[in-house]
Amino acid sequence: MNTHTTSKTPVTLLGLGDMGTALGRAWLAAGHPLTVWNRTPKRAEPLVGAGARAAGTAAEAVAAATGPVILCLLDDASVGETLDGIDLRGKDIVNLTTNTPAEAQQRARWAEERGARFLDGGIMAVPPMIGRPEAGGYVFYSGDPALFERHREALAVPAGTTFVGEDPGHAALHDIALLSAMTGMFAGITHAFALIGPEKDLDRARFATLLAEWLGAMSRSALGIAAQLESGNYTEGVTSNLAMMTAANGTLLATARDQSVDPGLLTPYMELMRRRVAQGHGDEGLAGTVGLLGGE
Ligand code: NDP
Repeated sequence: MNTHTTSKTPVTLLGLGDMGTALGRAWLAAGHPLTVWNRTPKRAEPLVGAGARAAGTAAEAVAAATGPVILCLLDDASVGETLDGIDLRGKDIVNLTTNTPAEAQQRARWAEERGARFLDGGIMAVPPMIGRPEAGGYVFYSGDPALFERHREALAVPAGTTFVGEDPGHAALHDIALLSAMTGMFAGITHAFALIGPEKDLDRARFATLLAEWLGAMSRSALGIAAQLESGNYTEGVTSNLAMMTAANGTLLATARDQSVDPGLLTPYMELMRRRVAQGHGDEGLAGTVGLLGGE
């Protein structure tokens, strides 16, 4: 008998899409007893072939659970549908389904009302990064800190863990904030490739390397913005102020026009910078534009 295997926390996993299946494989590979359920039973077959036990219903899977019950479903509505009517008393629910902060808070209350402990997670990885620590993927967790501590070891198997507080909405807030920043970055990349689009003699691969390196270096500006937001002094340590950048924006727009590129992905942010300068804050860095979006 493999005593090493039986000492590992049993994991129950509801949802075997691309991400759920990757998570399940990681727990099996690390020797955790794994019970799985999926709405479409056929999708459980690969994990059952690798050693998981398939439960006939979600209720049966939850009833048998002695360790964390992990949910990795499409959205919050599918979590509600799956757990509807199931006895959750005394269960440790860990919801890795992508949701909004408000949905996570509401789901935490919903679970607590049903006698369960609740932890919400936001996965910062794609399935091929799961179970490969060197890939750098991790999961934001928030909610019940005791629950996080109790299952920390099992939760760290598929990807790194970053606990961001007791408010159950904070994992989703971190997740969505990072994805939102990424969306802005993708908009910038799209614009940059459109700019060089007409130039047939330019090497796209070489340009892409230069672009990725530049974005990597510039992304460090987030640290300076955070320091300014903390201190409330938006002119401290500024090397490129808004007045200079707003003037340079004219050059960016003129080049877009010359290359027949729609500047629509850039102009909303340029307008924000212009407004802050118009308020008399041309000597500030980018921190001054944050408040113009609201959210304070
Ligand atoms: P998939 O689309 O591959 O799988 C969706 C899963 O949700 C399936 O198990 C599906 O069951 C189930 N499902 C959908 N609706 C319902 C419902 N009403 N009731 C019960 N089960 C339902 O998605 P992923 O596995 O890729 O993603 C799962 C979660 O992980 C999502 O919240 C996603 O945002 C998150 N995530 C995914 C990443 C990725 O790159 N894939 C990255 C980071 C987070 P069925 O098989 O029966 O359709």
